[in-house]
Amino acid sequence: MSDKKDEIGNWPQKDQRFVWHPFTQMKEWERETPTVIVKGEGVRLTDITGKTYLDGTSSLWVNLHGHNHPVLNQALIDQIHDISHSTLLGLANRPSIALAERLIQIAPVSEEAPRRLSKVFYSDNGSTAVEIALKMAFVFWQYQGDVQKKKKTFICFANAYHGDTLGSVSVGGIDLFHQSYRSLLFETIQAPAPTCYRCPVGLEYPSCALACADEVENILQARHETLAGLIIEPLIQAAAGMLTAPPGYLKKIRALCTQYEVLMIADEVATGFGRTGRMFACEHEGVVPDLMALSKGITGGYLPLAATLTTQAVYNAFLGEYADFKTFFHGHSYTGNPLGCAAAIANLEIFEKERTLENLQAKIRFAEKYITPWKNWPHVGEIRQVGFMIAIELVADKKNKTPYPIEQRIGTLVCREARSRGLILRPLVNVIVLMPPLSISMEDLKEMLSITGESIKKVLVRS
Ligand SMILES: *Cc1c(COP(=O)(O)O)cnc(C)c1O
Repeated sequence: MSDKKDEIGNWPQKDQRFVWHPFTQMKEWERETPTVIVKGEGVRLTDITGKTYLDGTSSLWVNLHGHNHPVLNQALIDQIHDISHSTLLGLANRPSIALAERLIQIAPVSEEAPRRLSKVFYSDNGSTAVEIALKMAFVFWQYQGDVQKKKKTFICFANAYHGDTLGSVSVGGIDLFHQSYRSLLFETIQAPAPTCYRCPVGLEYPSCALACADEVENILQARHETLAGLIIEPLIQAAAGMLTAPPGYLKKIRALCTQYEVLMIADEVATGFGRTGRMFACEHEGVVPDLMALSKGITGGYLPLAATLTTQAVYNAFLGEYADFKTFFHGHSYTGNPLGCAAAIANLEIFEKERTLENLQAKIRFAEKYITPWKNWPHVGEIRQVGFMIAIELVADKKNKTPYPIEQRIGTLVCREARSRGLILRPLVNVIVLMPPLSISMEDLKEMLSITGESIKKVLVRS
């Protein structure tokens, strides 16, 4: 028998009893009543007690056009009446075909490079999209010839985050997340992170002339014969705390990869689908990678779906007779899921219909103008922004850029404060991250920024 209390009141307790949450210290989780979300409407979330919040993280960087969007809803309803799932192993389906065509149409192009992304391989999350890109790059060289067979390893970057599967952790560089798995991972070569706030080579932009890229060149020069690929988060290392690269860096990396014959993998899982103010971050520097990983925003935040895009050249390497066994031996049960693909097609339709990117530009500028004065606040070390990826790094000592001790949990304190004021945020250690849905109104954006600022001030006065 279930009484009313069981239906409404016990959800938080049942969560604590049965659910193990990601990236969460569960001992701590068990101490406080969890917020149970029951509804989303536009940029607002409602919890089980009826309290509403602004969704300041876009539900962890995935939502673009708001929750409960009529176009996305209808696309899913229509697709459900046709079919919800059928496999891509040995069969095709219309949503996955139509979406692949659309993705290739909107993929980054460059006047310089003859390179073009022309094939789409589906999976269901960002980590697998990366995993697939790594496997494709690795095997590509195995099929080229005896000399190229030595091309087996990858350049990745300090602070990088590419997901949580073992392959994507192998190319990750955030010790806090990745250290405990170290002995399970394959070897990679780590280059310094291209980040200006704490410059890895101790210089200043622009007089540095992109010296951090010279480090990458040194590695390429010395070891290109053993390198299959280089994997990079274009423009901004997101999970690391929104660390931004100097302008021109990405383009230079592209040129180096071409020069040293190493496949460039762009992980646009976080940056893709308008987040940076363009459809893809690579467009800002006219870069076309050899492989591109997409997920997060691909369905407008509705369903898990991912795609790895690559060139005809990479694709062709896998062609052969069946008995050559050059088949790309990889695929998931839900690869090319029709519901996910239908949501992704609707997502792209909304971009056109609502002129999302066009309307976004004024909001990006507004946010920039609003937060720029915060630079002068005590303990605000740096403000970083690429489009609608906004970060405020809090430091214990501004002059020396000394981080707050991690156990002081300054970011968590700010986000807790924000939540009490009706805004959901999630910090990256000492970095306060704002990732509004792209569709947010100017008014809601202003409220979001205002609550963020108030919360920071409140906590910093206390600390
Ligand atoms: C989130 C993220 C991933 C992993 O995506 P999941 O869907 O969480 O597996 C990979 N790369 C980048 C840059 C990301 O931000």
